[in-house]
Amino acid sequence: MKKCFNCGKNGADLYGYIICDTCKTKLRLFTPETIEKYNSKDSEGFRKEIQRRLDYLDKEYVKKRIKLLHIQDQLKSF
Ligand SMILES: [Zn+2]
Repeated sequence: MKKCFNCGKNGADLYGYIICDTCKTKLRLFTPETIEKYNSKDSEGFRKEIQRRLDYLDKEYVKKRIKLLHIQDQLKSF
């Protein structure tokens, strides 16, 4: 069994990440009904917004990671 990325308990794959049922529940994932509600209002806009947020998140992750790796790297010389 694979381990949850967040807590280490047994979990299952979800979009390439191993996550347990407890942590999955805490994510408060949107229900199909909620997604349908947003999608029915402005389908193209909603889809673009989700992609925009994913792109933003990927860039923010890399920026923050570089910042931390830089600090860690500098610490080697102290
Ligand atoms: Zn977990």
